[in-house]
Amino acid sequence: MTIGQNPNRVKKKHFARAIELAAMSPSEDDRPHPKVGAVVVKDGEIIAEAFRGQIGRGDHAEFIALERMSRGNPNIEDSDLITTLEPCTQRSHDKKPCVSWIRTRRIRKVWIGTLDYNPIIMGKGETYLRNNGILIGRFPDDFQLEILKQNAEFFKYIASLQPSLSMEELENRVETMRNIITTELLEINKRGVLTSDNQRSRDLIVGAY
Ligand SMILES: [Zn+2]
Repeated sequence: MTIGQNPNRVKKKHFARAIELAAMSPSEDDRPHPKVGAVVVKDGEIIAEAFRGQIGRGDHAEFIALERMSRGNPNIEDSDLITTLEPCTQRSHDKKPCVSWIRTRRIRKVWIGTLDYNPIIMGKGETYLRNNGILIGRFPDDFQLEILKQNAEFFKYIASLQPSLSMEELENRVETMRNIITTELLEINKRGVLTSDNQRSRDLIVGAY
C-alpha cells in the first residue's frame, strides 16, 4: 500500500519500521522518556534510520538519522522523514534542535506520528516546519494509536507535571495553540475544506489542553 500523492515515496511498511525502531529506544534513567524511531525515505527506499539513544544516551532519533547516518550524503535532499514523535525545537546544552537539522538537510516532507505532549515542544515543531515550507503528513490512524500506546508512560508522566506549570509556560502553550490553529485556518481557507489531518491535529490539541 502506498500513502500520499506519489506512489514512489512513502509506504505503509516505512511507518511500521519507524515504530519498530522506536521500541528499541533504551531506558535512560529513572524518569520515563519518549520512545522514538525515525526513517528517511527517498524514492521509496529507506536511506537512513535510527532510534532514540542509539548512539549517545538520549540522542534524538531524527538527529542520528539525519546527521550521524547521513553526513555527506547528498541523496538526503528532497527525501521524506518519518518520525514517530514531533521533532523538537529546543535542546539542552546548546545542541541544535531536530527541526534545524530537518531544514538544513532540505527534507521535503515530515510524517509525524504524534505531537509531543511536552508543553515546551508541543505543536511548535510542526509550526516551525510548516513556516519553513516543509510539508507535514500524519501516520495512518492505526499506527498513531500504536505510538500513543508505546508512549503511554511518558505522556502520563508529562501530564502529571502539568499542575506545576508557571503562568509564563501556560501563556506559551496558549500561544502555541493559537499559532497552530491560525496555520490550519489559512490552509482551510486555501483549500476550502477541512481535511481529516486538520481535524485530527485539532483533536490532539484539544485533548491535551
Ligand atoms: Zn529532537
